[in-house]
Amino acid sequence: MIIVRFLAAIVIFYLLYRIARWLFLSSARTSEPIPNRQRPAITEDLVEDPCCHAYLPASQAYQASIEGKTEYFCSEKCYRNYIQKK
Ligand SMILES: [Zn+2]
Repeated sequence: MIIVRFLAAIVIFYLLYRIARWLFLSSARTSEPIPNRQRPAITEDLVEDPCCHAYLPASQAYQASIEGKTEYFCSEKCYRNYIQKK
């Protein structure tokens, strides 16, 4: 009865495949909830570029301390323009 052995082997392989897949999915599921929490902050403070008057998030701005006051620029180029005009 070679066919019966062959079928039994298929069933065993199928079960092993299902178990491996289940283990993989359950381990993937436990590491899932993290990314949803770290969205880019929409409520982040916007700062004004005193050179070109563009508004941009503080974290993306080029920061410079001018006369003891922190100013935010959209780029280093704007910062240099602003310094030269002073
Ligand atoms: Zn600018």
